[in-house]
Amino acid sequence: MNIILLGYPGAGKGTQAEILVKEYDFEHISTGDMIRKEIALATPLGKAVEKGISQGNLVRDEQIIKLVEQVLKRGRQSHIFDGFPRTIPQAESLRISLSVLRQKIDYVLFLELSKEEVIKRLTSRRVCSKCGAIFNIYDKSFTGSCSCGGNLITRSDDTLESAKHRLEVFEKQTRPLVDYYESSIGVKRLDASKEAREVHNEILRAIGLKK
Ligand code: AMP
Repeated sequence: MNIILLGYPGAGKGTQAEILVKEYDFEHISTGDMIRKEIALATPLGKAVEKGISQGNLVRDEQIIKLVEQVLKRGRQSHIFDGFPRTIPQAESLRISLSVLRQKIDYVLFLELSKEEVIKRLTSRRVCSKCGAIFNIYDKSFTGSCSCGGNLITRSDDTLESAKHRLEVFEKQTRPLVDYYESSIGVKRLDASKEAREVHNEILRAIGLKK
């Protein structure tokens, strides 16, 4: 089964993908994580995109598509696409790559959240520098540390200025995907303002894994 998670940055796509991967046999394809790894390893790609990412701009389609194709080549049957596709050319490329593998997108889920809530979530998000776990400083369970012992950091693109810009980028470049998928597969909209576990249960119901 292949699922695309759409939604503003900070809507909880990464958190929901993590929960699903823990419970079901999905390959988590987070292009944001892949790009951050390239930056951390200071690869030529990482060096080329670092500045643009911290400003909230998208990476070029060809560069992102190449990364995703490397993962698809592993031949897994179930993927969760988190943060990919973000443009129509990426969506077209994904459709073609999956059809070559005799696969298709089964569900497109749109995690809906207001812009105000997104800005609040992004600027209060912390990420473990070691295992990538995602935290929010306003969560009751937030302790300021990660169980793996890694340091919690603020992503360079979670500043107020970059967060606002990312929302504009979403409206311009990613929002058209909603119509694109609405007219083919259909888009299931979920209320992402709820607590993560509740959103997870809604996702399970939307993809037929729970009644
Ligand atoms: P994310 O972790 O999904 O919020 O992604 C962080 C940043 O990585 C984005 O703001 C973009 O700069 C870049 N990025 C991630 N996925 C894509 C994509 N599919 N297309 C272009 N840029 C991307």
